Amino acid sequence: MSRLPVPDKPYADWSRFLSAVWMHGMSVQNIDKDIVATRADLANESIKEVFTRRNEASTIRPSAFLACARQTYFSVQGEDSGGMPDHIGSTFAVGHLLHELSYAAVLSAMPEGFLVEVEKHVNLAPWWPKDATKYNQAGHVDMLVTCTDPAVKAKYIPRQVNVMLVDFKTMGSYTYRKHGKTVWGEDPDAFGYLAQIAVYTDALGVIDSGAIVAGINRDSLTKPLLPRHISAEALKSELARVKLAIEMAEDGSDPGEEFLTRHGSDAYFQCGRGGRPGYCAFRDICRETPTRDGDGT
Ligand code: SF4
Repeated sequence: MSRLPVPDKPYADWSRFLSAVWMHGMSVQNIDKDIVATRADLANESIKEVFTRRNEASTIRPSAFLACARQTYFSVQGEDSGGMPDHIGSTFAVGHLLHELSYAAVLSAMPEGFLVEVEKHVNLAPWWPKDATKYNQAGHVDMLVTCTDPAVKAKYIPRQVNVMLVDFKTMGSYTYRKHGKTVWGEDPDAFGYLAQIAVYTDALGVIDSGAIVAGINRDSLTKPLLPRHISAEALKSELARVKLAIEMAEDGSDPGEEFLTRHGSDAYFQCGRGGRPGYCAFRDICRETPTRDGDGT
């Protein structure tokens, strides 16, 4: 093993620390050759799988159908979510590769005294519905970093929490720039990142730490990692919203166009209104069954 951890100095927060570790580990001088070989092999398997095994599962999972309460409702009602576009494979393939290389970089450069778990299996919390025909019963998180040595933590991230969930997201340049300015809990979260992370941090018992969404710019790979911290308050509020959405869906109670109601014209990009094509899987049935005046066009 040729492990060269990030130089020891204090960082103001987990985001700056993670960013430095990632950048240090990405260097050809510092990345561990054995780790990168293992992760590259795993990326290879995932890339092959993307094109040979189509996963059209339409069950509700932390990463799908929770961004809007009406998506949850339609999914529980058994409405067809349409599946993924046929040509999406290469986007997923690039995502797998960049995730695995990021894991290799962080595993290589993280100092001793921090435990880094990647692709960690998660059993969902007891409140998550048990009907496996409608809801995935387990999932995984990209990375959980836990400090196991207080003296080491004091050197790198004094006065910070002990554990941090990190979710890597590959994104194009436009989304990467937007990601840098996102106000979590207020801006439209069309991809449901907040819901996903709220459910997982709750299941792992680490919601009080908040969490990090780390953006990787797939259009410009020399750009730094862009970690954004989501506060515990934003996650808890999202968790309450998700629980209510599931409760209403289970009761058969249509919540109406929740995402549109919350975000107004900022939701058009997602919902396919105002001349936008939209990419919510249920945009057609949502438009055909309006619950609000003027939403049927
Ligand atoms: S189109 Fe918008 S309001 Fe309707 S289900 Fe999708 S996200 Fe929700």
